[in-house]
Amino acid sequence: VQESPVGAGRLTRAADAAAAAGVDALLLSPGADLRYLTGYAAPALERLTCLVLPAAGAPLLVLPRLERPAAEAAGLAEAGVRLVDWAETADPYQLVADHLGAAVGNRPRRIAVGNRMWAEQLLRLRQLAPTAELVLAGELLAPLRMRKSPDEVAALRRAARAIDDVHRSLRGWRWAGRTEEQVARDIREAILDSGHATVNFVIVGSGPNAASPHHSSSDRVIRPGESVVVDIGGAMGDGYCSDSTRTYVVGQPGDEFAASYAVLLEAQRSACAAVRPGVAAGAVDRVAREHITEAGYGPMFIHRTGHGIGLEEHEPPWIVAGNDQLLEPGMCFSVEPGIYVPGRFGARIEDIVAVTDDGVERLNIVDRDLAVVDG
Ligand code: ZN
Ligand code: ZN
Repeated sequence: VQESPVGAGRLTRAADAAAAAGVDALLLSPGADLRYLTGYAAPALERLTCLVLPAAGAPLLVLPRLERPAAEAAGLAEAGVRLVDWAETADPYQLVADHLGAAVGNRPRRIAVGNRMWAEQLLRLRQLAPTAELVLAGELLAPLRMRKSPDEVAALRRAARAIDDVHRSLRGWRWAGRTEEQVARDIREAILDSGHATVNFVIVGSGPNAASPHHSSSDRVIRPGESVVVDIGGAMGDGYCSDSTRTYVVGQPGDEFAASYAVLLEAQRSACAAVRPGVAAGAVDRVAREHITEAGYGPMFIHRTGHGIGLEEHEPPWIVAGNDQLLEPGMCFSVEPGIYVPGRFGARIEDIVAVTDDGVERLNIVDRDLAVVDG
C-alpha cells in the first residue's frame, strides 16, 4: 500500500470545523472520512472501529485488538491518534461512550456521525448518548475533502493516467463476437496491470445496453456496427480513484450515431472549458446541457454532468443544475455528459478535471474522438 498523501493538519481542521458548528465530537467508522483524516484504510467489519475526534482534545481510535498492528503500520501514532484496543469479549460501544464522556462530558449536546456509519452501530451509539443531537459529519468534512491539496491532485492525476493507459490499449482489442462480460473480465485485469490496487467498477454497455448509463456487463454478444460505452475506474494504493468513460464503435458508425457523438464531444469540450475558479458547479452542467438540448437531444441526457472524486468515486462537489457551490482551485470532479436513445444506442465521454488557479486541467488526456475498433 502506497502512503496516502495525508499531510499535516487535517485532524486539526476537522476539529476546528466541529467547534465552529457547535459539535462536541465526531464519531467516524471505517470509510473515506476516516482514511482522509488519519491515513488509515480501516476495514469495515462487524467488530467496531470508531474514531473519536473531540472538538477540543486529543483524538483516539477505538479498534479491535487484532486490528492494532495494521493501524500502527498505517502511522496513526505519528498522526497523533491514540489507539484504544478492545478484546473480543469487551463492549466497544461502552468504550466509545467512556472515552467520549472523558473528552466532552457525559451529556454531549451535539455529535457528528459518519454519513455511512452502519445502522447497527449508530443505534448502539444512540443508546449511549440518548440526549445528544446527532448530525452528519459529512457536512463538516465535505468542505475539507472537496478542496484537494497539490499532493491529492497529483494522486488523482496518477490514477487518471493509469486508467488512460487502459482506454488506450482497448483500441487494439478484438470486440466483435465477444460478450460484454468477456471484454469486462479482460478490462479488470488491465486495470490492475495499469497500477491500480483495486477495480471499483467496469461498465461495458453495447448496442441498446449503452442506453442504460449504469449498465454493468452481460452475456450479450457485441456485434459489428454497434457502439459500446466503456466506463471504468479503480483505486490506486493510496486510495485515490480513477473514473473515465470512452465510447467505442465496432466497425463503421451509422450516420445518426456519428452525428449525436459529434454533439456530445462538443458538449463535453465546452463544459470542461467553462471550468474555472468562481464559476458555480451548476453552471458547468448548464453549458453541457444547453449544447445537447440545442441539438435536440436534451431529453436523452438523463443524468447530472458530473461528481467530485477523491478517496471515493462519487463525492462532492456535485456538478448538477441548481448547485451554486462556487468552484475553487483544487476541486476535482468528472465532466461526463451522455446521450442515451432507449432501445437503440448510447454514448458518454468522461474526464476528471482539476480546477487550477486560473482555469482547468484535464487529468484524463487519452483521445476522445470516436474510437473505431475492430469490426
Ligand atoms: Zn464513470
Ligand atoms: Zn463518473
